[in-house]
Amino acid sequence: MVKAVVGANWGDEGKGKITDMLAETSDIIVRFQGGSNAGHTIVNDYGKFALHILPSGVFYNHTTSIIGNGVAFSVPALFKEVNDIVEKGVPKPKILVSDRAQIVMPYHILFDAYEEERLGGKSFGSTKSGIAPFYSDKYSKIGFQVSELFDEDILEEKVERVCQLKNVLIEHLYHKEPINPKELLNTLHEYRDMVEPYVCDTAAFLREAIKEGKNILLEGQLGTLKDPDFGIYPMVTSSSTLAAYGAIGAGIPPYEIKSIVTVVKAYSSAVGAGEFVSEIFGDEADELRRRGGDGGEFGATTGRPRRMGWFDCVASRYGCKMQGATEVAFTVLDVLGYLDEIPVCVGYDIDGEVTRDFPVTSRLKKAKPVYKVLPGWKCDIRGISKYEELPENCRNYIEFVEKELEVKISMISNGPGRHDIIYR
Ligand code: GDP
Repeated sequence: MVKAVVGANWGDEGKGKITDMLAETSDIIVRFQGGSNAGHTIVNDYGKFALHILPSGVFYNHTTSIIGNGVAFSVPALFKEVNDIVEKGVPKPKILVSDRAQIVMPYHILFDAYEEERLGGKSFGSTKSGIAPFYSDKYSKIGFQVSELFDEDILEEKVERVCQLKNVLIEHLYHKEPINPKELLNTLHEYRDMVEPYVCDTAAFLREAIKEGKNILLEGQLGTLKDPDFGIYPMVTSSSTLAAYGAIGAGIPPYEIKSIVTVVKAYSSAVGAGEFVSEIFGDEADELRRRGGDGGEFGATTGRPRRMGWFDCVASRYGCKMQGATEVAFTVLDVLGYLDEIPVCVGYDIDGEVTRDFPVTSRLKKAKPVYKVLPGWKCDIRGISKYEELPENCRNYIEFVEKELEVKISMISNGPGRHDIIYR
C-alpha cells in the first residue's frame, strides 16, 4: 500500500513527525521532490534531529530510505546527514539512490546566492541550497543524472559544455570567479565514489515492493501553497509539492497512491517572502513564534524566524483539496493552549466581496482576512491520548476546522514526540 504524507500549508506543518510515526509500520520511505533546502524536525528516542534530504523514516532498523528520481540530490548533504545521525547512535540506515535522480552541482549553490545578491531587496528569500538553479537546469536539459557519473566520456564532454555556458553568466552577469572544469570533474568523481554503493533503479525496486504488498510512504517537502502551479507563484519552490507528483518523483503508477495523509497545522507559519493573508505581527506574533513548534518557530535549515499567523481555513481547505487529501493530521495543537480566544480566518475580503475560495496571486495580494473568534481552552493538552479527554473548547476548535476543511481529521498531534498523537 502506498501512502503519501504531504503538507496543506506553507511547509513546516510537522510532516517529519508524522512520517517518523507512520514509518514504524512502513517498509520503505521515499523522498520524491525538493532537496536539502527545507528541513524536517524529528524528536524520537535517539534525540532531536533536523533532516534535510534523508527521508524521515531513517530511524528504524526495518526501513529502506529512497532518494527518488524527483529529488534535487545533494551528494555531500546526504552523506553529512548520514554521518550525523550515525554519530548520535542511530543504526546505519539502508539507503537507495535513484539512478535517474539529478545532482545539485556546486555551481547551483553559487548561482542561488549570486542571483539573490543581484536581486537585492526583490529577492525570493531563497535558502541558497541551489534548488531553483537545479530545477531550471533539469528542465533546460543540462542537468547531471546520477547515472551519468558512471560514464566518463559523457561526463567529461558535458562538464566542458556546461561550464562554458555557466561561465558566460558568471563573468558577465555576476562578475565572479569562473568555474574550473577540471576541478568540477574531480568533484563529480568524488560524488561518484560516494554514491556508487547506493545507486539502483529505484522505480523497479518500488514496483517489485508494491507487488509484494510492502508498505510504502512518500514523504513530501513543503506544502500546497509552495507548489509552482497551485501555490503563491512566484514565491514558491521549484518542484511540485503535491501528492500527485509523488507518482512521478518516485516512479510508481498514480493509482497506487491509496492514502493521502495531509498535514495541517493548527495555526499558520511561513518562511520566505510571499502572500500570507492571516499573518500577524508584533507581540502577538512574537509570543506564538516563541511558543510554537518544539522550542520556537525558526527554520530547521536556516534558523530564520518564521512568519506567523492564525489558522487560515481558506488556504488550508484549498491546500487539502489540491493534495487530494483522504485524511488530515492536525498538528501542533498543544501550542494554542495559552490563548483566551483564537481567531480563525474563514474568508478573504477582496474588493469588498468575501470569498471562501483561494484565489490566484494577483487577487490574493488584495485579500484581507475575515476572522471568526473561537474560545480557547486555556490548558496544556500534552500527554492526552484519548479524543474524549480533550477539553470541550479544544474539541470544538478541531471540529470547526474539520468542517471547514471538508476532510476527516483522523490524527491530532499534541506534542513533538512520536507518541504525542490522538487517533480519532
Ligand atoms: P515539516 O517540515 O513539515 O516536517 O515540519 P518542521 O519539522 O519544520 O516543523 C515542525 C516543528 O514542530 C518541529 O519542530 C517539530 O518537532 C514540531 N512539532 C511537530 N508536531 C508537533 C506537535 O504536535 N506539537 C508541538 N509542540 N510541536 C510539534
